[in-house]
Amino acid sequence: MPSQWIRRFAQGYRSFRQNYFETNRALFKELSDGQAPKVMLVACCDSRVEPAIILDSGPGDLFIVRNIANLIPPYQPDTFHHGTSAALEFAVNSLGVSHIVVMGHAGCGGIRAALTGIGGETEFIGPWVSMIGPVRDEVVQACGGRPEAEQQRMLEQRSIVSSLRNLDSFPFVAEGVKAGTLFVHGWYFDIHTGDLLAYDAEKDAFGPLPF
Ligand SMILES: [Zn+2]
Repeated sequence: MPSQWIRRFAQGYRSFRQNYFETNRALFKELSDGQAPKVMLVACCDSRVEPAIILDSGPGDLFIVRNIANLIPPYQPDTFHHGTSAALEFAVNSLGVSHIVVMGHAGCGGIRAALTGIGGETEFIGPWVSMIGPVRDEVVQACGGRPEAEQQRMLEQRSIVSSLRNLDSFPFVAEGVKAGTLFVHGWYFDIHTGDLLAYDAEKDAFGPLPF
């Protein structure tokens, strides 16, 4: 028997079909011919960070990939299974998005795993977050004596910067950025306050959204 949670979402679907879908029939008809989002978003799997709600977006607006700790891996064209890189390739080369936003968040469990080493014994989480090992070492060195919450916030933000750097290692991204047809952004959502901060490359710091 389905649990109460599955029943809840089955009911949620019925409500969507009767209300949202009916109200937006024209939009869904248009979208059934294909998608043309202008923005790709890389977000965390975390259930508390819901991009569509935080950014007030609708169907067809955002091409989203969610993974543990919203990380962009480095460019590694080999035979392994690269889900995030595949999404990136499709967004840039097939959809022709104009913007890629990496959106991190406060209280990220994946970042905590990278910081504390919890998850080291896992099959996939440890190896996945190990890509920010060098950034973690920098953060620990810079503020190792400070409270763990402060170190975590710093790593949450610096890992976004690291992902932006990794984005640039993909030739098709670097090409678009150089040509001025593709823009990359680092955003940070604070679940507690509701603030959304943006990375300012000139200041090398996060601050209020500049637009
Ligand atoms: Zn997270």
